[in-house]
Amino acid sequence: MDIIRRRPESRPGSPENFTGTVWIDSIVASDASSRLRANSVHFMPGARTAWHSHLNGQVLHLTEGTGRAQERGGPLQEIRAGDTVVSAPGEWHWHGAGPQHFMTHIGMSDAGTGIGDTTWGEHVSEAEYLATVE
Ligand code: MN
Repeated sequence: MDIIRRRPESRPGSPENFTGTVWIDSIVASDASSRLRANSVHFMPGARTAWHSHLNGQVLHLTEGTGRAQERGGPLQEIRAGDTVVSAPGEWHWHGAGPQHFMTHIGMSDAGTGIGDTTWGEHVSEAEYLATVE
């Protein structure tokens, strides 16, 4: 058993991959014994990921606030604390805070055998982000 009490420093989300202000706290990084990667990701109002996909899919569990998420070609959806969002392997999508609300989710994925299990695309435009929520 390993109890981790000394957290790594919070790190800002890269402006290449996020719009707005995002902070990431690592919960567990993948290593030789486990491919599980988990991060607590904090989005300020208006902040969101760019479009992206995960090689082995992703599970998001919202711990705070209200946000938005969308699958490529699908409706813009509101997501709230307590919701769990499951993305299939290779599915293009984005997720973020609502325009007027903070949002925090725990992102969990199988990091695979390499470093880059996330493929990043273009930023989510204002038109996409502010579209009508279904
Ligand atoms: Mn994702």
